Amino acid sequence: MTGEDLRHLCDRLKPFGGASVFAEMSALAVRTGAINLGQGFPDVDGPTAVSEAAVDAIRGGFNQYPPGIGHPVLRHAVAEHQQRFWGLEFDPDSEVLITAGATEAITASLLALTGPGDEVVTFEPYFDIYPADIALAGATRRLVQLHPPDYSFDPDELAAAFGSRTRVLLLNSPHNPTGKVFTAEELDVIARLCVQHDVIAVTDEVYEHLTFDHNVHVPIATRPGMAERTVTISSAGKTLSFTGWKIGWVCASPLLVKAVQAAKQLLTFVNGGPFQPAVAVGLGLGDEYFSDLAADLQARRDLLCDGLSAAGFKVAVPQGTYFVIANVSGFGETDGLEFCRSLPQRCGVVAVPVEVLCDDKAFGSPLVRFAACKRPEVLEQAVERLASLTP
Ligand code: PMP
Repeated sequence: MTGEDLRHLCDRLKPFGGASVFAEMSALAVRTGAINLGQGFPDVDGPTAVSEAAVDAIRGGFNQYPPGIGHPVLRHAVAEHQQRFWGLEFDPDSEVLITAGATEAITASLLALTGPGDEVVTFEPYFDIYPADIALAGATRRLVQLHPPDYSFDPDELAAAFGSRTRVLLLNSPHNPTGKVFTAEELDVIARLCVQHDVIAVTDEVYEHLTFDHNVHVPIATRPGMAERTVTISSAGKTLSFTGWKIGWVCASPLLVKAVQAAKQLLTFVNGGPFQPAVAVGLGLGDEYFSDLAADLQARRDLLCDGLSAAGFKVAVPQGTYFVIANVSGFGETDGLEFCRSLPQRCGVVAVPVEVLCDDKAFGSPLVRFAACKRPEVLEQAVERLASLTP
């Protein structure tokens, strides 16, 4: 899309309106027949018990508008899931809201909680919709960098980003694209600032079950002073490997849920009627489903990280999520965007440049993101192709 094509788009959204690099890279993959490790979605379906439950729900009369806050069976399943895995208590009737994926939950939360003159503190690199959602709400972003190689933040830099205009701290852990899993100690630093400045934490936890090695997910809502000031968001996409169903949820105190629902009902009102009871079945699967999911992805992470290192990339081994960030400086290159544009021709693989996930382009420039959530045979083939890369 050219600048011309955006003339009808309002100024607020112009910076976010063009064709994304994700779309450019996916189109490149199709045109060149390259293996697409750019986009983060699994190339196999989730559990059959869950898809069968969706078929049953379609045949069984779950096809009209669900209640505005979501089908009771899913709200109960979400509350039970939060209790079972994280020890968090939510009332399914007043503290859980079903949304059109985490995407709508994040957008509705920012629209509900922030407006012109307000500031939202979040980390860089970021999930791409965050700056656009903040802009949509008319608020301003204040970014704090996650520094390689471990993608930790400087507590002083974070404290400096908070001020009298800060309304929301937007967190993502486990973090896309770095694969960082925030520790309890780091979350306590963030929590203290939220309490001190009377700020609400909006936390995107869609990769909550995808953590590796000794790393465990810690919801910020469990930290001191945070239960009443946190909007916890997740979705079925990654946990159940049904990214196209777009069933997500918000868990928060009744008044925060009411605020988010006020915005949410203007966006979609409701969605995915028959998928809601099916996701309830998925959230009730046995513990081994969730541990196998992480163990299986960890093996694929290892395959990809080893292959990237052997090919000459400097790799930051992720603690969680679908993604691996690699530095292209080993090839004598510094421009990740150009690197990604040339990669399909050079070796038949597609990756995503991290600079499009940063305001500070120089910071993101040498970094590229690969997705590990593909079948092992696909990753093996990709690694074989990457091995042919020469500086
Ligand atoms: N947050 C993060 C960090 C993500 O990576 C994604 C999906 N790529 C989403 C939210 C979107 O989740 P959903 O598909 O449930 O809308």
